[in-house]
Amino acid sequence: MSYAIEGASGAWEVVIGLEVHAQVISQAKLFSGAATAFGAKPNAQVSFVDAAFPGMLPVVNRECIAQAVRTGLGLRAQINLVSRFDRKNYFYPDLPAGYQISQYAQPIVGTGVIEIELADGSTRAIGVTRLHVEQDAGKSLHDQHPTKSYIDLNRSGVALMEIVSEPDLRSPEEAGAYIRKLRSILRYLGTCDGNMEEGSLRADVNVSVRKPGEAYRTRCEVKNVNSIRFVMQAIEAEAARQVAVWEEGGTVEQETRLFDSAHGVTRSMRSKEDAHDYRYFPDPDLLPLVLDAAWVEGLRRGLPELPDEKRARFVREYGLSSYDAGVLVAEQAIAVYFEDVARGRDAKQAANWVTGDLFATLNRTGRTIEDSPVSAAALGRMLDLVADGTINGRIAKDVFDAMVESGEAPDAIVEKRGLRQVTDTGAIDAAVAKVLAANPDKVAEYRGGKEKIYGFFVGQVMREMKGKGNPALVNEALKRAL
Ligand code: ADP
Ligand code: MG
Repeated sequence: MSYAIEGASGAWEVVIGLEVHAQVISQAKLFSGAATAFGAKPNAQVSFVDAAFPGMLPVVNRECIAQAVRTGLGLRAQINLVSRFDRKNYFYPDLPAGYQISQYAQPIVGTGVIEIELADGSTRAIGVTRLHVEQDAGKSLHDQHPTKSYIDLNRSGVALMEIVSEPDLRSPEEAGAYIRKLRSILRYLGTCDGNMEEGSLRADVNVSVRKPGEAYRTRCEVKNVNSIRFVMQAIEAEAARQVAVWEEGGTVEQETRLFDSAHGVTRSMRSKEDAHDYRYFPDPDLLPLVLDAAWVEGLRRGLPELPDEKRARFVREYGLSSYDAGVLVAEQAIAVYFEDVARGRDAKQAANWVTGDLFATLNRTGRTIEDSPVSAAALGRMLDLVADGTINGRIAKDVFDAMVESGEAPDAIVEKRGLRQVTDTGAIDAAVAKVLAANPDKVAEYRGGKEKIYGFFVGQVMREMKGKGNPALVNEALKRAL
């Protein structure tokens, strides 16, 4: 499935590299003990270090480093036992120190890989260039006062992981799949909550275009895009803009741009600075970060089963298709729910119920799996009732709907509403006889060779039995009578 933009001179290929900023899950900030909770009152979570008071010294938070290493391990990346913190100088009103502590030449995590899954079922391995740890800045609030701007430093000093991809992505779809997969891995690891609305995950989107087979051309960077949909739209808009520039005989200049989601266009923000503009230099307040190999090994042993492994296991152990397995493992809570339903039962049926009726119900009611109106135990019990013949597959749908509505247990619903499957052959024969007697013309047609109307009789008999007939016995009785 290749993606191309048609220009007057032919097809253009799109080249994309993503820099994703992921906020580290940690009680405290990267270099101070201040809290990190979202939604606190402005400036309620600011230490002297975060406010850059003179003479304050940063002390690195071990848990933030552990989270970065876990993430690196989860991305199957090289962990650098020696890394270094640098000062990246720039001026912003919400950056009181005048520099951000980041990692430049020696990041904590080197090259890794993220496998993405595309709509046509294919997969691609996307290179991760590096992951480095850095501080977040504060926030300027321009909408609180008619003539003044306020500064909220709650975010100042919060630990971020910047995860940089190789320019391996070739379409908006691939970029979307990359962020979804990265977010899924981060959530499994418990290293970032992946909440894009709260800004815990944001992406800088680097885009260039070229003729197939050419070397890379100049890229532009679209800053701070905060939803997957906007990332995909920004790529489309920016690639189309660049194609138009080249086709008109112009030159794309390297620059930083912003995506205007209301108008679906990118706008120039500033010409792109190079690394030397930041005057990076090793932070003299911080020693090189030296990790103990045994400590890293301990973190590796503590990793949970990640989506790729889980998916492979679901295919192997439960005989699911790779696609269904992929859907079920995208969120850990769904995978746990599925396994609770599938354990000791028909796994394919369990998968069908979870990805079918259950997902539809969650969508319709705006709920998540954590507050599903039907528990895994209840759904499992309902499947048992189908398996032991208490109810048939058709009635199971009604029982499920009743469970959603009332929250009652499946057994109670079956008893109260009299939904037990009818296996009494006398009752089935009587229903068959009644249907045949009411439809003499159809019976004659069927006996005259029009066998495809058989389904009509099944439907009528089931209706006569309020859906509760045992399908196998109904078929037997019908065939006999016809
Ligand atoms: P810088 O240090 O200036 O930000 P990097 O080499 O770190 O530059 O690249 C930043 C991002 O830009 C990476 O995600 C990379 O994959 C991407 N990138 C580099 N070259 C291109 C290109 N020609 N087209 C699209 N993306 C690119
Ligand atoms: Mg960069």
